[in-house]
Amino acid sequence: MQKDYDIIVSGGGLTGVAAAISAKRSGVKDVLLIERYGFLGGMATSGLVHPFMSYFRARKPYKEENQLIFGIFQEILDSLKALNGLERASYFDAEAMKLVLNNMILENDVSILLHTYVADVKKEEDNYIDSIKVVNKSGIADLKAKMFIDCTGDADIAHMAGVPCKKGSEDSIHGQPMTMCFRVANVDRENMPSRNEINRLYTEAVKRGEVNNPRENVLMFDTLQDDVVHFNTTRIIKRDATDAKELTEAELEVRSQCWQMFHFLKKHIKGFENSYFQVSAPQIGIRESRRIVGRYILTEEDVLTGEKFDDSICYNAYDVDIHNPSGTGTVIKSLDEGDYYGIPYRCLLPLEIDNLLVAGRPISSTHEAHSSLRVMPSCTAMGQAAGTAAALVLENDILPHELDTSILLDRLIEDGAFPNDIIK
Ligand SMILES: Cc1cc2nc3c(=O)[nH]c(=O)nc-3n(C[C@H](O)[C@H](O)[C@H](O)COP(=O)(O)OP(=O)(O)OC[C@H]3O[C@@H](n4cnc5c(N)ncnc54)[C@H](O)[C@@H]3O)c2cc1C
Repeated sequence: MQKDYDIIVSGGGLTGVAAAISAKRSGVKDVLLIERYGFLGGMATSGLVHPFMSYFRARKPYKEENQLIFGIFQEILDSLKALNGLERASYFDAEAMKLVLNNMILENDVSILLHTYVADVKKEEDNYIDSIKVVNKSGIADLKAKMFIDCTGDADIAHMAGVPCKKGSEDSIHGQPMTMCFRVANVDRENMPSRNEINRLYTEAVKRGEVNNPRENVLMFDTLQDDVVHFNTTRIIKRDATDAKELTEAELEVRSQCWQMFHFLKKHIKGFENSYFQVSAPQIGIRESRRIVGRYILTEEDVLTGEKFDDSICYNAYDVDIHNPSGTGTVIKSLDEGDYYGIPYRCLLPLEIDNLLVAGRPISSTHEAHSSLRVMPSCTAMGQAAGTAAALVLENDILPHELDTSILLDRLIEDGAFPNDIIK
């Protein structure tokens, strides 16, 4: 296992998979992807998160002419579809997703280590990561690379390397709540009451103390199976997902919340009489933890006014969507109809460390902007951009912040990442 790589991508969520594939396709010889679980997908599989939130212009129909994100994300959509694992452009099957991502990694000849945890980084100089320390069944090893891409969702590599990171908002140290997604099967969906009626009964159950959940209503989605309902409705507040003790407490607390919710549904909601608790996600879902401080900090204003930057590596139009970090309520703010904003390359460039890019959830942004950019399609697009950028950095023997972003954007255009009518 002692081998020097060109690029090591840590974290095999959608961001990391896209980063590793795009680096490899851009001509980099040795790309290693490291993932702590035995399967890929991150929150899309280990968090059972569903469905894809909008990758279309703001409040426009889900039609190709309104689509903002293509490239590797589109390939994932196409492969899911081929396995009957995609419906209505955004409802996907997590098991199909696991296979799709495995196949893409293998087809692109990316080296991969599953069941491998990145536990530390080693720096020879203050601003340069020399190697990362990984732990797995073979033992403990230091893996070297010229460039590192942090796709851990929690900015683990950046944090361990000393990159300044933020948590929570200006007003509070708490980030968005964690949620365990779960599914209930054998539901007679045809006979379910309206959402309003379910919410009314839920509020009464909370008042009676039957359900101990600060969430204001029941958040649920259809799935690809007619009798299965997906719930994204538990809420664990004021816990830090990067603190092992608090994460453990969150997992313990959320499981009983899931079952309280299930018992409430079965007892009080028409259509659930014969249902059973089908599955919970392998881990609690983490919306927000660390956010790096990078060369640009994307703000809520940038998002809501549809700011486009010279170095926008992808575009997104999902709402500012903040589940209350400390209680009840959810804040939603939308962009103007048809609008979208850009995510600048500079948000992927951490302060302090030169040979590191950070992509996905923890890029440099405010708490409010993060609540929009965190969705799966834009994370995948950021991963593709990060992998391509890292390859160009190595090709030109420069540092990531020295990269001429017009070359990066040209490469992303060539690779079909952008819609034809929004080029740069
Ligand atoms: C409850 C919930 C609901 C959501 N709802 C939606 C939704 O409806 N639609 C939508 O589009 N998005 C939604 N999101 C957001 C979205 O799922 C995530 O923000 C996105 O998937 C993040 O992708 P990522 O690849 O950047 O990070 P992750 O998916 O978190 O992937 C990180 C990967 O790195 C691995 N890893 C972490 N640390 C280490 C380490 N130290 N060593 C090795 N491996 C490591 C993890 O196992 C994981 O596979 C939701 C998120 C949550 C939690």
